[in-house]
Amino acid sequence: MSKPVIAIVGRPNVGKSTIFNRIVGERVAIVEDRPGVTRDRIYSHGEWLNREFNVIDTGGIEIGDEPLLVQMRAQAELAIKEADVIIFIVNGREGVTAADQEVAKLLFRSKKPVVLGVNKIDHPDMQEELYEFYSLGIGDPIPISGAHGLGLGDLLDACVEHFPEDEGDDYAEDTIRISLIGRPNVGKSSLVNAMLGEERVIVSNIPGTTRDAIDTAFSRDDQEYVLIDTAGMRKRGKVYESTEKYSVLRSLKAIERSDVVLVVLNGEEGIIEQDKKIAGYA
Ligand code: GDP
Ligand code: MG
Repeated sequence: MSKPVIAIVGRPNVGKSTIFNRIVGERVAIVEDRPGVTRDRIYSHGEWLNREFNVIDTGGIEIGDEPLLVQMRAQAELAIKEADVIIFIVNGREGVTAADQEVAKLLFRSKKPVVLGVNKIDHPDMQEELYEFYSLGIGDPIPISGAHGLGLGDLLDACVEHFPEDEGDDYAEDTIRISLIGRPNVGKSSLVNAMLGEERVIVSNIPGTTRDAIDTAFSRDDQEYVLIDTAGMRKRGKVYESTEKYSVLRSLKAIERSDVVLVVLNGEEGIIEQDKKIAGYA
């Protein structure tokens, strides 16, 4: 079973990256490499109350030169699609802004669990700043200070409460789970088709339990296998989807469900930077 995903959303400068760093600590984080841009740590994992989870700082995912509100909307949509729990960070020193209300509306409509963190509450005597955030209509605001590491336990307690139950998957215990990981268009799906040549019995072709991958179960020499193909899962039509940032999280989820990871490269193009990253997750 892949780990639950927490996504952090909020306006620029509210403290998302500070809180992300507090949550994941010294763990290795996946950064976005873009020339001339700060290397934001975007994906990593953490643990709280013995529950492991993945965490995304959506603020580090930028989509071209889109205006702020479009960026924020896209980041919120990404969080809604990919996360089990969303941490919405606002700035306790600035009060509720129009952009906060806009994001709150999107999150509210999504019906995803949202935990509201009011950041920059550095002193206990600032508690009264909290009350106006009730007007966002997404539950109790939790006072935190990313800078001072205050309130983060309460924030994570609230997240863990909303984690889905450990479901496992539908396959027999001794099924060998193999995922195919690689850049788009390196030929993952063709390889799956080739591997499932005629002599193999395809048992079923079930959409992945995590809706991120196509699972194909088959048996060979009395051994059950399932191929987890992360190809062809890029969704269409949304701004952020053109960026392929998605494939990172999908790869992570597939890897967590696998016994064996098959990293597929394009022999014609050789190894490029993105391949190294992908192989690094595996
Ligand atoms: P992001 O744009 O949402 O990722 O925000 P950052 O994490 O980069 O933080 C923006 C600024 O707010 C930085 O200067 C941080 O040092 C500062 N900051 C973050 N958390 C706190 C906090 O709890 N209290 C105060 N006073 N400043 C903070
Ligand atoms: Mg940031």
